[in-house]
Amino acid sequence: MLLKKAFLLLLSFYLTLITATPINAQVNSTQFNNDDTLRGTLNKDRSWWNVLRYQLTIEPDFLNKEIKGSNIIHFAPAGKSTASVMQIDLQSPLKIDSVIYHDKSVSYNKKGMHAWLIELGKRKRNETDSIVVYYSGKPKVAKNPPWDGGWIFTYDKKGRPWMTVACQGLGASVWYPCKDHQSDEPDKGASIKVITADSLQVVANGKREAIEKLSGGKSATTWSVTNPINNYNIVPYIGKYSNWEDRYKSKTGKTLDLSYWVLDYNIEKATPQFNRDTKRMLEAFEYWFGPYPFQEDGFKLVESPHLGMEHQSAIAYGNGFSNGYRGRDLSGTGWGKDWDYIIIHESGHEWFANNITTNDIADMWVHEGFTMYSEVLFIDYHYGKKAADAYCQGIRTKIRNDRPIIGQYGVNNEGSGDMYNKGAGMLHHIRTMLNNDSLFREIFLGLNRDFYHRTVDTKEIEDYFIKKTDLPLQPVFNQYLRATKIPVLEYSYNQGQLRYRFTNCDKDFSMPVRLGDQDQFNIICTTEWKQIEIPASVFVNTISDNYYFTKKRVEL
Ligand SMILES: [Zn+2]
Repeated sequence: MLLKKAFLLLLSFYLTLITATPINAQVNSTQFNNDDTLRGTLNKDRSWWNVLRYQLTIEPDFLNKEIKGSNIIHFAPAGKSTASVMQIDLQSPLKIDSVIYHDKSVSYNKKGMHAWLIELGKRKRNETDSIVVYYSGKPKVAKNPPWDGGWIFTYDKKGRPWMTVACQGLGASVWYPCKDHQSDEPDKGASIKVITADSLQVVANGKREAIEKLSGGKSATTWSVTNPINNYNIVPYIGKYSNWEDRYKSKTGKTLDLSYWVLDYNIEKATPQFNRDTKRMLEAFEYWFGPYPFQEDGFKLVESPHLGMEHQSAIAYGNGFSNGYRGRDLSGTGWGKDWDYIIIHESGHEWFANNITTNDIADMWVHEGFTMYSEVLFIDYHYGKKAADAYCQGIRTKIRNDRPIIGQYGVNNEGSGDMYNKGAGMLHHIRTMLNNDSLFREIFLGLNRDFYHRTVDTKEIEDYFIKKTDLPLQPVFNQYLRATKIPVLEYSYNQGQLRYRFTNCDKDFSMPVRLGDQDQFNIICTTEWKQIEIPASVFVNTISDNYYFTKKRVEL
């Protein structure tokens, strides 16, 4: 997902109006309803079964903005559960037409606006099982994709049909029936068969399996992805595409298939842009995060009618084949100008969001904070640490601290849009505390190895950092993830005596701070005044700007 600039600026203005009230009150002011709970919580009709694979077949009707199709949901009962009611999510105005279980039609009822309860009746005691859900209707159409999701029925520059979907946050159930909770990905991947006019090409996740010619000038194209995949990442692209292939020799020694799909009239512009930055991206990210996590499914960039999205092994690209974020440098430092923002950011998500996914969208900072930081690490790898520092300090200036970056659990609620810049700022802050880049890199490699193809909670990520760094990081995580105040390091310096403390923070906030031109001093700074003797020559201005706190000299 991408930072929504204009909209958030407007929002932050209104939020400053209401920040008079304490922050927590602000969070609780968001009203959640029963649909949010049905969507955001793993209730009894969801928790007894584990999704193994989705087998989707859809036929979009471009002119009437309708889709019809089916999803074969392969699942495995958890443990010895005897439950027989399944909650399937499919958002209005789409509707379920029928559900088949072991060749019999079974009954189902709607619960709330977007959930359906399927009565399986007497369930077979199989290891694995499946149901087929047939559905149809007019899916929600996206007004401002990818930020507000839905289906996209549009025309390309030559007036030809162009279709796709973007649905992070809103959820995949906006266009197909599934268990729409991030914690349960189809362990064995998914296939997607799209029936459309055979004059159009269909692209989707993974590898193309088949193109079948059908009557009536139609064809059915099937793509299949074998690795676990987020529901919101399963996406078709339908249009007048041209494509070229390439390969990348991975550090693992394996060769990764690269495949690029753009509208036929953009092939010339796209080729140099994609070829240059995709390989630079893989080189940097395999260095910092380890091998591309979906080797079997390959890596793809697919031109989309919206700016971009991290669709696993079929990344959506709409940045106009130019560098920067639509030509601009988000950091304002110049270090964001020499690479294609969408290729780098969305590809960073293959590691953080797709390889490592959060159970609850309330922890989406793990997706966006780490991926925003992947931009910093891309710059670090290709332009050096100083450039990375400057870029990170530049994006930090965009943080609004309107509300905590962790959202409300169990109700499909994202945290503040600060999860991008502040998530990255916090990681750079921790890197500065650690002051050991080989260990820091080890942690990023370790995260992708130890949480490979897994879903996680913030707590697991916190514990991992605390264990690996051996630093007292919990107060730091609490301050930057769960609060909105940015600590102020107040200090006075007089006749070789440095007095220091933190203000504008949680009362139990504390952290080690290195100072001295050779980092000779490592002080534990808390909210209580402390004192240390330090020669002026060693002290002045040696507290790194890579720490994300404000420094304030006071006269005592
Ligand atoms: Zn993102």
